[in-house]
Amino acid sequence: MCRVLIAQLVQLEREEGIMSDNPYEDYQLDTLAVRAGQIRSAEGEHSEPIFLTSSYVFENAAAAAARFSGDEPGNIYSRFTNPTVRTFEQRLAALEGGERCVATASGMSAIYATCAGILKQGDHIVSSRSIFGSTVILFNNFLAKFGIEISYVDQTDVDSWKQAIKDNTRLLFLETPSNPLTDIADIRALATLAHEHDCLLAVDNCFCTPALQKPLDLGADIVIHSATKYLDGQGRCMGGAVVGSEAVVGQDVFAFLRTAGPTMSPFNAWVFLKGLETLGLRMDRHCQSALALASWLEQQGNVERVWYPGLASHEQHDLAVKQMSGFGGIVSFEVKGGKEAAWKLIDATKLLSITANLGDTKTTITHPATTTHGRLTPEERLQAGISDGLVRISVGLEDIIDIKNDLATSL
Ligand SMILES: *Cc1c(COP(=O)(O)O)cnc(C)c1O
Repeated sequence: MCRVLIAQLVQLEREEGIMSDNPYEDYQLDTLAVRAGQIRSAEGEHSEPIFLTSSYVFENAAAAAARFSGDEPGNIYSRFTNPTVRTFEQRLAALEGGERCVATASGMSAIYATCAGILKQGDHIVSSRSIFGSTVILFNNFLAKFGIEISYVDQTDVDSWKQAIKDNTRLLFLETPSNPLTDIADIRALATLAHEHDCLLAVDNCFCTPALQKPLDLGADIVIHSATKYLDGQGRCMGGAVVGSEAVVGQDVFAFLRTAGPTMSPFNAWVFLKGLETLGLRMDRHCQSALALASWLEQQGNVERVWYPGLASHEQHDLAVKQMSGFGGIVSFEVKGGKEAAWKLIDATKLLSITANLGDTKTTITHPATTTHGRLTPEERLQAGISDGLVRISVGLEDIIDIKNDLATSL
């Protein structure tokens, strides 16, 4: 009871801007994942309710006017705020250790809202080359149209980031580990570099989640999520989120979101809340099974090479150990015999799902060269290291014995 009252007070003070510190800093991650952000209604419900309402009513005309003018905090319309969505936002903010979180309709709209909120015409982004395909298209085809410049660099080479920064650079953008080759970017070094040049560092933390990596603690300014992946973790809903400071996320990103409207639905927010409650447990198992699979794949005669940050053979294993508390659920490997062998292997699996999605309870298998990276030219693919024999697996929560057996038969 007392705790609920404190949470309500904290909430009011945060809305009024009196307090912006993380009110949950005394709890561990698994506790936050279950409890942070919930404020019970007068009904005393134990589980979080879904507020499926587009608008909110006011006591009288004067109260409506006070809400609209901003003199009084509170809900007006669910494009701006919704109690279920806010619970998700506060829970994820607590998990990432950020002041504010803004939830969005998808991971892509989280990236777009971040850029639209903080950048203007003439600004420049330095981005890792190894980012999600749709992010590249968003940058090249849409942000470029509004006069925002982009340069791409090798994410493992801090020097190339340094050389790419110009007077008008405002944002550094990366994903780590990268998809599908699990390259690791040094978040701490790149955060320092960004701040030396008055830039913000944004990290797409989709592959790790705060259960395995906390970019804000390493100095990053903004964390971006596709909640569609591990935050839901069960392949049900589309969603995204941006986490960071009150000034950048609470003001700039939120201002864009409430006006342009790529808002998260309250129903999806509720699904993500339930997903977050098991985040730590799920990520532990994803990591454990992925490491077992990667080690086993390394011993198979038909396998040329395996990429997994938890393997001692991974080129950046030491850096991965330093900045991640687990190595994630994505394993990539190259089979001997190119595309033909890769397709044959994929088609011979019976249990694994042939889909490009990831971060699901169900293990998925995909051929990057002809799916996620199929739109690149052969030269671009070569430069990105995506060979024709490359196969990517998102290791799910089935028994590892069955996952291995399915692949053993195929290999
Ligand atoms: C899937 C994904 C996105 C895009 O998220 P959506 O929810 O599909 O819009 C962005 N970044 C990474 C790393 C992803 O895997």
